[in-house]
Order: sequence, then structure tokens, then C-alpha cells
Amino acid sequence: MNPFEQAKKALLKTKFFPYWLDNEAAPAPEPALKGSISCDLLIVGAGFTGLWAAIHAKEQNPNRDVVLIEAQCIAIGASGRPAAILSTSVMHGLDNAQRFFPEDMDELERLGKENMDGFKDTIARYNIDCDIEWGGELTVAVGEDGVEDLAKEYKLYKQYGHDAYLLNAEEVRTELNSPLFCGGLWSKSRSGTVHPAKLAWGLKRAAKELGVRIYEYTPLVDSRHLKPGVMVTTPEGEVKANKVLLATNAFAAGSKKIRRRVAAIRDRIVVTEPLTDEQLASIGWQNRQGVYDTRTQLNYMRLTADNRILFGGRLGYFFNNNTDPKDDKSADNFLMLVKNFYDTFPTLKDVNFSHAWSGPIGLTTRMAVHYQHYHDGDMIYAGGYSGFGVTATRFGARVGLAILDGDDIPETKMGFATTQPNYIPPEPFRWFGAKVTMYALDTYDEKGGWRKPWISLVEKMGFPVTQNELG
Ligand SMILES: Cc1cc2nc3c(=O)[nH]c(=O)nc-3n(C[C@H](O)[C@H](O)[C@H](O)COP(=O)(O)OP(=O)(O)OC[C@H]3O[C@@H](n4cnc5c(N)ncnc54)[C@H](O)[C@@H]3O)c2cc1C
Repeated sequence: MNPFEQAKKALLKTKFFPYWLDNEAAPAPEPALKGSISCDLLIVGAGFTGLWAAIHAKEQNPNRDVVLIEAQCIAIGASGRPAAILSTSVMHGLDNAQRFFPEDMDELERLGKENMDGFKDTIARYNIDCDIEWGGELTVAVGEDGVEDLAKEYKLYKQYGHDAYLLNAEEVRTELNSPLFCGGLWSKSRSGTVHPAKLAWGLKRAAKELGVRIYEYTPLVDSRHLKPGVMVTTPEGEVKANKVLLATNAFAAGSKKIRRRVAAIRDRIVVTEPLTDEQLASIGWQNRQGVYDTRTQLNYMRLTADNRILFGGRLGYFFNNNTDPKDDKSADNFLMLVKNFYDTFPTLKDVNFSHAWSGPIGLTTRMAVHYQHYHDGDMIYAGGYSGFGVTATRFGARVGLAILDGDDIPETKMGFATTQPNYIPPEPFRWFGAKVTMYALDTYDEKGGWRKPWISLVEKMGFPVTQNELG
């Protein structure tokens, strides 16, 4: 059967909704805000950035009056949709950190490890049941170029004291059996996988227990500077706040200017039906790592607690940073991803897919958190994790609060916090550039040609789109 017809068949009974959110454990939403309230700190957006910020603000000062508003419901944005492979890096990986902040590498690495330890502690302290597994991160080489890339990456991992191991083709296939894999790099400690929605719901519970007031289905509509303080309006109410943290990621809500530096890209994921023991045995994966491959249009994969395979990684862009593209909810946009799945795991050619979805990536040219200041610094935006934020949001939120409060901590003086990523061209150039780039990425490895100079031009503009580039 033609591979795309096979993919179509495998998607016949698929629910186009995130597997993570399709769960009876989802808590009932909090009522929307009606009327006028005031608070010390208003957080806008209840994904991981907003939730970590709410908890941190209360832990720091239990008397602080903290309000969290969310346009829809908890974790409906990127936070309820990721692969949720956990990483120690707070700057989108070691090579990305080295590319942009070489002088801060030692400190960023130390902060990343501290952040991961704090992530673990918070989950344990609030007794959050979120299917966390510590199998590590495994990067798998597809093709000989990939093997060379991994050797370079391995050096960097060892230089910064990671518990990392280089695997040859046979060793990597013992870990995860695919005919495509020619080598691997397994970073064993401080990484793994989590159920992101259960984590977000647990953080919501913790925030409520700490006294944070949460309003769902309450979008920020407008904000006005009161000098000092900010008045935020919502459809049926208003919040007068001393300080505001915009945790709106790719939605870039709160100021039209955010989009000058943040593009809303979509990334896609499919999830299989639960594998039988026999199917799982055919691919190994006893150590249940979170896995990335080295392809230019990279694929990532992991197991869920009930032994489904989550397989993701096909970028898309919709005109004007559309964060709710209706046509990304049909099978056609997932066919290539399913074909890649079958190419990766030919022994699973009979497996069907229960869920498929896409999610918003807040992409910046530095692919890591940055801060934008509004209303004389009484309101700041913290975002731009670019697809690497389940743990990094905890760090981004903590530093964002320190900037907002004027706290004198070293992190607020580091390059990532004091400088901005490059501007991204506006529409229609953004749409055109994104479309050509996505097409080039899809076919870069097989066809080369004009794609290489185009991707190199995009990289000169500041986007490190070939993820293996070691700068
Ligand atoms: C497909 C995919 C795969 C990923 N895989 C990984 C991975 O394996 N590992 C990893 O570390 N990271 C991964 N990420 C990235 C990670 O999910 C994000 O970096 C992280 O969840 C961002 O959290 P956030 O709170 O900043 O944003 P979001 O979760 O997007 O939260 C922003 C919130 O703001 C709300 N909002 C928007 N506008 C308004 C408004 N006007 N008023 C009030 N609220 C508003 C939205 O509804 C949303 O809930 C992935 C992301 C995607 C999409």
C-alpha cells in the first residue's frame, strides 16, 4: 500500500485532540472573573510559566495577593500538548546555550541543574502524581552526519559534567530498535518524561492551596498603566494589579509588540493505541528514554505510562500567527508524520493512532526565554522557550518575577535576561519565509539543492533551525 494511504487508514479513528488532556482526571475549571478586584501580582496565562510563577510568588511571600487569569482552561496551550521530555537545559540545549551565551555557560549549566532539582522537589513537596519517569534523554543519529553531530555534542556534555554515553549502532538499537538509527547519545541523569497535563493540574491544585485566586475563561482584553500599577480588563471584569506577568507564550497576548520577536509556530504529534507486549518487545525501549533524532526536521518520541508511543515533530505555520488553525485538526496534516513513524518502526506497521494534535511553539531567534517590558516595567512578558519549556518555564518564571520585583539576583543581570532576541519580519514576509523554510526542512536531508543556501540564510537571520549545529 502507498505509505500515505496506509497513514490515512491508521488515522481513521483518531481523535484530533491532545491525548494528555483527554483524561477524566481533568479538574473542573474555576469560574470566570465577574466584577472588579485588585491584587499585588496578576499573572496572565495558566500554562507552566503562569503556574510556576504563581507558586513561586506565594512560596517567596505567602502574604502576597496573587491572581491568575486564563483565557480558556489550565494547560490548553503548549503546556497540555508537549512530548514532555524533560531536560536540564534552561536555554534549549547545551549547543544553543553555547551559541548565544558562551560566556555564561558554566552559570547556565549550574542554574539548569538547580532548576531540575527544584522541579523534582516541587513535585514531591506537593505530592503531584504525574507519571514521571527518569529514563534520561537519548539522541539518535539518523545517517552518518548524525553520528558526527553526536560525537561533537558528546564532548560538550562531558565538558559540562553530564552523565552521558556515546552508543554505536548496535548499542543504540539495543535501547530502541529502528533500522534508521546509526548511533546514540544517552544523557542518563536529570532527564526523563512526565505527563504534562497531570503536572499542570497538580500545580494548579498547589497554587490554590497556597491561596492563589484563579479565574479560567477570563482573557485579558486590554491593559492600561496607572503609574504605578496596571489596570487589566477582561470581558466581564477588571483587575487592578501592582505588577503583571504576561505568561502568554506563543499567544503573545498583552501587547501587540510581543509578536515582533515571537512567532507562533505549530508542532505536531501523533499517539498510537497502547502497544501489546509483543509489539513493545519488537522495539525494546526497556529504559523508556525520551528520544530525539538528528534529522533536520527532527522527530521526537517517548512512551506513555500505558505504553503508547508519542511521536512528534513536524512544524507548520499559519498566517498571522494563528494559534487555533482549524485545518490542523484533520488527518491530512499528519500523514507525513505517520509515514515517518512507520519508516522509523517498520515492525509496528499495523499500529493505529488514537490521538493527533498540534500545539503552539513561541519561537524566537534565540529559542529560549526572554523578557519584554511594558508600562515602565510594571508589566513584563516572559516567554519564547521555542519548544523546550516543561522545566525551563520554572526557571523563566522565577527570573521573570525577580525582574518584575526589582530583586537583586545575579540571574537578572545575565545576557538572556538583559538583551532581546532579533526582530522577526512581519506579515506577509513571515508567512512566506516560514512556508519556504518548513518545505525546505521537510526535504533538506534527501534533496539538498537550493534548500541548503536558503536554510543558511535563515540561520544568518538568527534562527538556529538545524538543531545539530554546534555553533
Ligand atoms: C507539540 C509540542 C511539543 C513540545 N515538546 C516539548 C518537550 O518534549 N519538552 C519540553 O521541555 N517542551 C516541549 N514543548 C514546549 C513546552 O510545551 C512549552 O515551552 C511550555 O509548555 C510553555 O509554557 P507556557 O506557560 O509559557 O505557555 P502555554 O502553555 O502556551 O500557556 C500560555 C497560556 O496563555 C493563555 N492565554 C493566551 N492569551 C491569553 C489572554 N489574552 N488572557 C489570558 N490568558 C491567555 C493560553 O490560553 C495558554 O493557556 C513542546 C511544545 C509543543 C507545542
